[in-house]
Amino acid sequence: MRDARRKFVLGIALLLAGGAIIGWLYGRPFIGLATAAIVALAWQVRQLLVFERALRTGDFEELRYSRGIWAQIYAEYNYQRYRGQKYRRRYKRLLKEVRNSTKALPDGAVLLNADFEILTCNPASDELAGFRGRQDRGQRVDNIVRDPAFTEYLRSRQFDRAVEIRSPLYDGQWLNLRIVPYGADQYLLLIRDITERIRLSKMRREFVANASHELRSPLTVISGYVDALSTDPETPETWKKPVVAMQEQAERMKTIISELLELSRLESATTDPGRERIDVCALLTSARKIYADRQDVAKIEIECVSPAILLGRASEIESVIANLLSNAVRHTPPSGRITLSWRAGPEGGLLAVEDTGEGIDPELIPRLTERFFRVNRGRSRADGGIGLGLAIVKHALGRHGAELEIESQVGKGSSFTCRFPVDRLVGAELVPLRAAGAQDADKA
Ligand code: ADP
Repeated sequence: MRDARRKFVLGIALLLAGGAIIGWLYGRPFIGLATAAIVALAWQVRQLLVFERALRTGDFEELRYSRGIWAQIYAEYNYQRYRGQKYRRRYKRLLKEVRNSTKALPDGAVLLNADFEILTCNPASDELAGFRGRQDRGQRVDNIVRDPAFTEYLRSRQFDRAVEIRSPLYDGQWLNLRIVPYGADQYLLLIRDITERIRLSKMRREFVANASHELRSPLTVISGYVDALSTDPETPETWKKPVVAMQEQAERMKTIISELLELSRLESATTDPGRERIDVCALLTSARKIYADRQDVAKIEIECVSPAILLGRASEIESVIANLLSNAVRHTPPSGRITLSWRAGPEGGLLAVEDTGEGIDPELIPRLTERFFRVNRGRSRADGGIGLGLAIVKHALGRHGAELEIESQVGKGSSFTCRFPVDRLVGAELVPLRAAGAQDADKA
């Protein structure tokens, strides 16, 4: 191509020079030059028209056997056209392969481009979510699945998780949608019917709630008699110790039942927790008061960095604080320190409970919010732990769009941080979280 370009420029230069020399011989060099330029221009215009006609009609015969720069342009054009056709053919073959291999899948599979527009989908995606093959091609996927949770999922681009939504087609059906990025900016949307799993977990929740509820009445009766026995002066001396043990165990059962009921309520609550105005600093102060007279408890400090108001259900946030503080108290020696803090910034609100206690093995941290999980079962039972506290915390936070972050080092202490979204904060100057250090903390 470079050779042809050089020849082309040289040819034009020679033509112009020839024209100028001939003109000069006749005493009119400029007329000679202008005539040569017009000839060169006319030739190029002709070639351009030939090329344009060839493109229009698809008949490249004349260009195929020509020489010079226009033949080179034709060759380059032909090469690119061939490459384009090759890619198109390969792309079509790939699309066909994907369509054939996903046809047999019971789960929906929808191929999306970088803008989440539909390229192709399998028949199961039609049955599950109403994707109509060719008709929907080129449409954005959230035009077909119109669900706020799914729209938010696409917007956030956090594709390491899935979303669960109600079926847009059938009442009572639930779908699990997951986007898997692949290749260069392409996505695969997987759709699974999870109605059965949702039904079973609803049954489990209802069973636990009903069983706990039914156990409450007989337990109240037993506990009443045990209390009566403990205060009755006629109770024989040999019975005193067993009666105290029975009283303690009845209390423990009451706590288990009320925590199970609380957890079931949080798990099955579908409505928004509401938007009561919560003064988090006031809640921290009243949670600390419960331990005010206890000598066997570590020093509890409060850092109220922001007066921001939290919007949510006050009783649930109160329960979050009570559970985290009770854990910190039970796992920190009296010589240690517990810090309760509240700060808010443009990124959201942080409610943290930190202690300098025994800490937790990092491998066990992901399991702490499981129901009935305890690091040391025997010890936990002795100090009144049941293993439901952090499960309650996680669910109460989830309802507020908040997350629980746990950091810990064995022998050094732990920190439990609740991260609230900014749309649940009002009425305060939001201090950037990182800038909010301990030095500007208003220690209560
Ligand atoms: P429990 O009723 O046993 O406290 P939780 O669900 O509240 O149940 O906590 C689960 C386990 O996590 C506890 O048994 C305990 O081993 C561990 N844990 C919770 N908080 C702390 C803490 N601040 N320091 C050390 N371990 C903790």
